Parts: sequence; structure tokens; C-alpha cells
Amino acid sequence: FDMFVLAFVERIFRPTYRKDDFVLGKKLGEGAFGVVYRVSSTKKPSSKKEGDLVLKKATEYGAVEIWMNERVRRACASSCADFVYGFFESNSKKGSEYWLIWRFEGESTLADLMQSKEFPYNVETMILGEVQDLPKGLERENKIIQTIMRQLLFALDGLHSTGIVHRDIKPQNIIFSEGSRTFKIIDLGAAADLRVGINYIPKEFLLDPRYAAPEQYIMSTQTPSAPSAPVATALSPVLWQMNLPDRFDIYSTGLIFLQMAFPGLRTDSGLIQFNRQLKRCDYDLVAWRKSVEPRAAADLRRGFELLDLDGGIGWELLTSMVRFKARQRISAKAALAHPYFDREGLLALSFMQ
Ligand code: ADP
Ligand code: MG
Repeated sequence: FDMFVLAFVERIFRPTYRKDDFVLGKKLGEGAFGVVYRVSSTKKPSSKKEGDLVLKKATEYGAVEIWMNERVRRACASSCADFVYGFFESNSKKGSEYWLIWRFEGESTLADLMQSKEFPYNVETMILGEVQDLPKGLERENKIIQTIMRQLLFALDGLHSTGIVHRDIKPQNIIFSEGSRTFKIIDLGAAADLRVGINYIPKEFLLDPRYAAPEQYIMSTQTPSAPSAPVATALSPVLWQMNLPDRFDIYSTGLIFLQMAFPGLRTDSGLIQFNRQLKRCDYDLVAWRKSVEPRAAADLRRGFELLDLDGGIGWELLTSMVRFKARQRISAKAALAHPYFDREGLLALSFMQ
């Protein structure tokens, strides 16, 4: 098939929207760069269920977010929330806005689900179907967390293989899609497309410090900040290899893994305290473990026990994600092939040890 024919056909049959086609529902979020609502469409053939769409009214960065979502939809649709349409809306009072529309994927983000005392059991039937026959305990919790991690890394691998670094991976930006029964990534507002050099977020832009890797900036300071498109296309695979910007997202994903294993780190204050401790250990997770384990409360000990199951294979994966040096962190693709995710692999690892 000719790519252009496909894109053209897709363009014709995809619904297009205008400002007046929406009825605003509940506000879902409000950040520095936009407001998000659940909405219904009044537009005829495509109007389905009430509140089946999500609208983000974004500031100037909305242009980048539309670009990223269009690209994701063509290259790795299953990684992110289903994007419907984006358009520019000039507004004489508020200045210009970008409107972005997605399908409403579901009620809960991973952050919502992790706040529950029941976690990870509250996610079990959502992602694994029927309740497992294992008794409640570490093994069963590990199995659920493993499934969540696999889904996250799968989505992330899709983005990274497309050349997109998300830069704001955190439980608040992971939505549970009730339709596909999987976790998907949302909020591409801070993402960078390395292949064409699209990266409008100014360097000073503060990434979420709770989940940011220590390098802070995706590219080293020697990297030209806004290369022109043809140059960037020629250079970027090399830059990608040199700087491994995708590993920024891996660090954040490692912190989510950690929060799932340790309930005490699920609160903001718990995570901030952990970050301080880790920094004091020069971002060496093994050193952190040595420093806290001897005087660890039951809750912390239980987390280590969970990660130590099956010969410590979970701990091994975690420590290969949360590392100071980006180039020493595992890639999303390699992480998916890690023995943590398959039972055959477990045997292989036990032979290796
Ligand atoms: P921001 O963080 O910039 O405010 P997000 O894109 O993260 O914007 O969206 C804010 C919130 O809206 C999310 O945390 C989530 O609760 C909800 N949300 C966003 N997109 C969807 C979607 N496709 N389906 C369901 N809920 C969504
Ligand atoms: Mg967000």
C-alpha cells in the first residue's frame, strides 16, 4: 500500500470537529499548560455514548502535543490513549488555544489505583481477568505488578521505537483503558520527537522532580537545541545513540516499579524522602538498600521480599532501570526480554548464578 494513499483515505474518513461540537462535562485535570474535561459530542454521525471523549484545551505547547499524538496514532497507536482530533482555536479573549480530543479510556489512572489500600489486588481482575487461584500474598502481588510493568514497558517501547521520549512518565500519566484492559500512556505535552528534532519545551522547563532522572535534560548541553528538520533527520539516530534520551523514561518507570513494590513510597512525602536518600547514596540503589534494610520497618522489608522472589529477579530488573548513568540503564525493549517477565527465563538465570 502506498503510504500517502492510506494517509489520505484516513484523513477523509476521520471525524473532524469544531469548538461548537462539544458539551463540557466533568473537569479531569488542570495543569500549567491546559485544562482537561470529559466531554460529549453533539456532532451527528460520530456521537455515541455520553461523555465518551476527553478534551484538552492547551496553551501554545498544544501544537507539539497534537504533532506527537498524530505521530503516535500512525506509528504505535496502542501505546497511548486513542487520539481523535486536534485543532487550533483562535479566541479573541483568551488568545489562541489548541484543542485536543481523545476517546475516554477509563475512570482511573495508575496513580488513582495505587492510592487504594487494596493495591495491587484492585487491579488484578482488571488486567488478568478472573481472580488467580494463588493465595493472597507476595507471589500473587508480584504477578500483578509484573503484568503492569510489562504493559508499561510495552507502551514505552512503542514510543521509543518511534523516536519519541515522553519525559513525564508518572502514575498520573498512565491511564487504565477499560476497552483494551491495558495501561496506556497519556499526556505527550512534554514529549520530544528526536527523529525530526521537535522539542519545544524550553531547557529551563522543570520536569516533574519526583520522577525525573538525575540528568534532568534529555540531551547533553552540546546538542544543538533546535536543529533544522533536514539536519536533525540526518543526525538524530546518532544523537539518540550517543545520548540515549529514552533512558530518562526508563528511570521514571523504575521509580513506578519501586512504588508498586513499596507501599510507603506511594505517597508524595514517601517518594520525596526516598529521592533524598537515593541522592545521598549517589543514586546507587544497592547502597540505598544497604543503608535502609538493617533498620527497615516491616513494610519496607516486605517490599524487598517481593523483589527477591525467584532468585531476586525483580530486584535485578529494578536496579538495571534506576541507575545514575543513562547508558547503564536497560532499554524498554531489553527490559521486556528480561527474565523477570518469563518463567523459562527464570530457569536460565538460576543456571547463570
Ligand atoms: P495534564 O496533566 O496536562 O493536566 P493530562 O493529559 O495528563 O493533562 O490529563 C489530565 C487527566 O485527565 C489525567 O490524569 C486523566 O485523569 C484524565 N485523562 C486524560 N486523558 C484521558 C483519556 N484519554 N481517558 C480518560 N481520562 C483521561
Ligand atoms: Mg498529566
